[in-house]
Amino acid sequence: MWSKLQQRLQQRAAQDLMRQRLTCQSPQSVELKAHGQSYLNFSSNDYLGLANHPKMVKAMQKASKNFGVGSGASHLIVGHSEQHHLLEQELAEFLEVEAALLFSTGFMANLGVLTSLLDKKDLIVQDKLNHASLIDGGLASDAKNVRYAHQDMASLERQLAQKAESKLIVTDGVFSMDGDIAPLLEITKIKTRYKVQLMLDDAHGFGVLGEQGCGSLEHYQIPTQIADIYMATLGKALGGFGAFVAGSKLLIDSLIQFARPYIYTTAMPPALAAANRIGLQLIRDEAERRQSLKQNIQYFRLLAEQNQLPLMTSETAIQPLVLGANDLVVKVSHNLKQAGILAVAIRPPTVPKGSARLRITITAEHSKQHIEYLVEQLVVAIKKHKEI
Ligand SMILES: *Cc1c(COP(=O)(O)O)cnc(C)c1O
Repeated sequence: MWSKLQQRLQQRAAQDLMRQRLTCQSPQSVELKAHGQSYLNFSSNDYLGLANHPKMVKAMQKASKNFGVGSGASHLIVGHSEQHHLLEQELAEFLEVEAALLFSTGFMANLGVLTSLLDKKDLIVQDKLNHASLIDGGLASDAKNVRYAHQDMASLERQLAQKAESKLIVTDGVFSMDGDIAPLLEITKIKTRYKVQLMLDDAHGFGVLGEQGCGSLEHYQIPTQIADIYMATLGKALGGFGAFVAGSKLLIDSLIQFARPYIYTTAMPPALAAANRIGLQLIRDEAERRQSLKQNIQYFRLLAEQNQLPLMTSETAIQPLVLGANDLVVKVSHNLKQAGILAVAIRPPTVPKGSARLRITITAEHSKQHIEYLVEQLVVAIKKHKEI
């Protein structure tokens, strides 16, 4: 095993595919300290700038004083605190669905849903570019797991033609490496026509999209109840940590009984639940954050277009620049870092071969000057290695 692993690591390094961690020394914000340097951060999912919001910090401090640090046990033993309970109620109310259930992470939520609700007579039909946790959840499920070409409705319909007792369409709301939004109007029509179920992973839509911040369904003015299973994380726009599934009472009751990644794990710290509650409140009450984010995205796209940068069609905070070759992306990312900018290189297998990219994320907290500097340095770095 060890010699094989050694070989695999060497192979990765040779292909410019080695992944590295940055050790941060400051809170998440537009300016990030790492390895003793200060950087302009264009890589975080803290789209609304809430991860280090004073109200969030205060909520966590206050709640840790009242509830301590550890939750002590799983939810079904003695780990389910009032703070968890209130957060679940507030999430359900916010989304106008019957109930919500907290999970420790989004990865576990997706794994929990896909491995507990379906059996081998059922069919899961997923977008090919869905998040790794959905793909893994599908593979671990007893149900048959198939994929359709990215956002390709004809391909989805072909997959739905297969015989199965229950069929579940599964899609990201906003695709994490491309930033494009799922065609939920079409998917909703197909769901109704074929009388199948829909699971929506709205990790990058929740809090950000829609006037109220209810996510990618609200973006299309579709009520959240259309998704039989709605899932989102609390660690992205909400600025906290953890995740939840929302939907009918029957869905939530079933998950509590059958979802092993819910049952057999320690509950999130109650103080974290309390901080997440404040995050939700800020999403609800401070719509101007979504407005600033939108303006920043538009400004970035305008400047990038003027400079002929290879933009994708994304209208969300995720604005990838596909450069293609692994070594090119690594070099450009490295040059940006030398210029004080963090824009992380994303390479296969996270994205398809030949589509290595800089995954730039814009937040509400960036200033016009930050965005101007980013585009200026992108042009310099890309020109240095490639004619664009
Ligand atoms: C981040 C992400 C997850 C996982 O959520 P965590 O809470 O970080 O585990 C799931 N789905 C999508 C689409 C994501 O982007």
